[in-house]
Parts: sequence; C-alpha cells; structure tokens
Amino acid sequence: MRRLLVAGNWKMNTTRQSATNLARALGEQCSSVLDVVDVLICPPFLYLDAVGSTISGTGVQLGAQNAYFESPGAFTGEVAVSMLLDVGCRWVLVGHSERRHVLGETNELINKKVAASLENGLNVILCVGERLNERESGQTEAVLDSQMNGGLIGIGDLVSTNLVIAYEPVWAIGTGVTATAEQAELTHAYLRNWLTNRYNSEVGEQTRILYGGSVKPENARSLLEQSNVDGALVGGASLKAKTFMPIVQAGVNVSRQ
Ligand code: PEP
Repeated sequence: MRRLLVAGNWKMNTTRQSATNLARALGEQCSSVLDVVDVLICPPFLYLDAVGSTISGTGVQLGAQNAYFESPGAFTGEVAVSMLLDVGCRWVLVGHSERRHVLGETNELINKKVAASLENGLNVILCVGERLNERESGQTEAVLDSQMNGGLIGIGDLVSTNLVIAYEPVWAIGTGVTATAEQAELTHAYLRNWLTNRYNSEVGEQTRILYGGSVKPENARSLLEQSNVDGALVGGASLKAKTFMPIVQAGVNVSRQ
C-alpha cells in the first residue's frame, strides 16, 4: 500500500526566523499524524541547516529544492548532493516547472540530477507537467512522455522506493486554478501506466505520484481521495502551518492504511 506523502515547497520564501518558526510549529503539530502519513518540507538552501536542526527528532522530513549533479569541486554557486545529505536532507525536488521554464533546465540536466541524487542516496521527487497551451492542444500525454523519458534515462532499479513523481500542471501552479480531481486522477493513472510499461507492474504499483498545483485546505480532500493520487506537493499553502496542516490532515483522513 502506498503511504501518502504531503510535501511543502517553500520556494524562495521565508527568513531564517520565519523558517525556523514554521518548522517548529509543523514539528509539534505533525507529531500525532506521522504514523499515518509522511510529511516533508523543502526550505531554501540557506535555511536547510537551521530548519533541519529544528525538526530533528520530530519525524518531519527535510528536502532541498534543487541539487547539482557533480561531486564537490569548482562549480560556483551550486550545491552538491553530498552537502544536502550532510545537513540531513533525505529528499530533493528535481525538474520543478519553475526550474524548467524560468531557469531553463532541460530534460538532459534534470536526468543528470535525478541520477546523481539517487546514486548517492537522496530520494527524488521528479516533477512533470504540461503548460496550458499544451493541454489545450491535446499534447499533455506527449509532454509527460517526454519529461518522464528524458528524466529517467538510465535510471533502473532505484525507482519505486526512492523515486516519487509529482504531477504538476504548470497552469495550476501558483495560479489558484486547480486541476479537478477527475483530471488529476486520469493523469496520475496515465503516469502509473507509463511506469508499469517502462519498468514493471511492481514499480507501477509502488511508486507514489503526488499532485501539485494550488492545493489548498478546501480542495485537498477531493484530490487526495483519488486512488492514484498518493499525496500533494504544496507551494503557497505550505508557508503557514494554518494552511499546510489541514492538507496534512486531509491526507490522514483519506489514508489507506
Ligand atoms: C509548487 O510549487 O510545487 C506548487 C504546486 O505551488 P502552488 O501550490 O503554490 O501552486
């Protein structure tokens, strides 16, 4: 049975103080639910260490929003996978739409990041999703095929336990527009089938597929109760405990355990 994962992507937000305050609140408020769902927070690089210390021992997991694929060396401004592990990260987001479409990351670069992370023991959330014009012109599946194929070249038996897919339609990220529960379920089923065809039925069955894109307390339950939706990747609503915790609670309420 796939355990639900609710992940917060803080993006380029918070200060050292607000980050540790939020982390402390989540550590306290999540203590009664972590035997049912997994909770992950992804603060900015600068605050990983402080947030990691704050949530240490609470069971809330720590993730980074990006990583570089090379080993430590002359790569000015980049952060290596080993450094993320060193400050207690267990997860990294790769291929987020803002990195693809604002910062110009290609499938080739994303694939190197996925490979370097998994090979070095960092779990990966690989984000995929189509833009509005792509959905409207019937290209959603082709875009997802290309992002899944491109991101997972050469990735073999580390999938399923160490890899999570996040389906994040670009038109729903930070826009307030959410995919309907039916749209999400159909696309997640498509991605699960893709994993089964590319790998095998065990990988298809075991890999968690999160939904992301304007998840809020009001819509979390209807999304999370879909059978192929295994959690949420939450941006804006993850910046306050009072909006993130109801999403976590929705995960608890629909939990399949
Ligand atoms: C995200 O950044 O991954 C995201 C889904 O953002 P939001 O929830 O704000 O749409």
